[in-house]
Amino acid sequence: MEDTVLVVNCGSSSLKLALFDGAYQKLASAQAERLNQNDAFARIDGIQETVPLSPAASHHEALETLIRAFRDHKLLTSLPAAIGHRVVHGGETFREAVLIDNGIISAIEDCAGLAPLHNPVNLSGIRATLALFPDVPQTAVFDTAFHQTLPKRAFLYALPDSWYRDWGVRRYGFHGTSHGFMAVEAARLLGKTPATTSIISAHLGNGCSITAIRDGISMDTSMGLTPLEGLVMGTRSGDVDPGLVDFLASKGIAAREVHRVLNQESGLLGLSGQTNDMRSLCELADHGHEPSQTAIEVFCFRLARYIGAMMASLRDLDALVFTGGIGENSARVRRDTLDHLRIMGFELSEDLNRHHGEISDGRIESAGSRFPVLVIPTNEELVIAREASRLAGATGQD
Ligand code: ADP
Repeated sequence: MEDTVLVVNCGSSSLKLALFDGAYQKLASAQAERLNQNDAFARIDGIQETVPLSPAASHHEALETLIRAFRDHKLLTSLPAAIGHRVVHGGETFREAVLIDNGIISAIEDCAGLAPLHNPVNLSGIRATLALFPDVPQTAVFDTAFHQTLPKRAFLYALPDSWYRDWGVRRYGFHGTSHGFMAVEAARLLGKTPATTSIISAHLGNGCSITAIRDGISMDTSMGLTPLEGLVMGTRSGDVDPGLVDFLASKGIAAREVHRVLNQESGLLGLSGQTNDMRSLCELADHGHEPSQTAIEVFCFRLARYIGAMMASLRDLDALVFTGGIGENSARVRRDTLDHLRIMGFELSEDLNRHHGEISDGRIESAGSRFPVLVIPTNEELVIAREASRLAGATGQD
């Protein structure tokens, strides 16, 4: 149990923990959900009974309880060597992962206005582990950091300049940990180095974003000031006309309500009227449910448009990469999306696509395709664990 690394991921109402050994093999994982609501619960993966939590448990309480449960089940038998935290928003302050100290905590607090649902809970996870493990080096890994290389032409909105200068209104981009991992993994699979590899990385999970990576560097991405912009997602609309807000105000719907619906009741869920879950949508569509079929079509068409848009940031393309729950598992979404892009020369092998690249080192394109197409499982926890371990090593404490 030497050199374990604990990864902490606090979402707005959830908490995920993962424990890795020194060789980055996962030893244990656990999650708590519905935190700060009346029916919070927690469980350790692979263990039947749930871990008792008080009904409206906070992130802090859930974290303490799960760490105690890890110890009770002998999953954690000594101090971790390092702890890594996922932090959603690093604003323009953080271009890479950092070791956490009081100055870093205040800087993360300063970014909270940009991610009011996320940064405060990320900080509560950090404070809880600092209280439990005061002597263990802790690292913050930011969703936005990988995109701090975006050129101005990609990150500026065409808005009054003072909105950017005074309030930081610009495109930041998210899922950076996953897109950065794709850049490294795609290069490895192609037998190249990340610094000479250019890819388009499509992360398609409940949240969806796409990034153009030129020679290892993020050049453009579909999410913006918030994770609402861009692709169609599980419950988020992605791009809409901002004129919508005023139009709906004339119908008596307040801006706050529009915001809630765009985030929680739109996307695949809104279009289908049934579910935000792509697997269920595919089954519904197969049984003739037309709104589900339409939801899949809108999802794939928007994605195809964005793949085309990302080309504008690249000089050449070494591979188009699919990842995330949908990107890794839905042969149908990959096929329907690339059917729109035949004009660019993308062509899939039906057989390799059906096997999700598992029999071909991730490759799913046909022999005649102009570009390689890869399926690569994402692993954000692993990246956070590696970063935490690397920075803890730099302090000489591990
Ligand atoms: P999160 O963003 O919450 O981490 P995931 O990356 O796990 O989410 O992605 C969840 C999405 O992946 C859901 O829409 C789910 O239906 C979809 N998905 C998982 N497996 C399949 C599959 N076999 N076919 C189609 N969609 C799938």
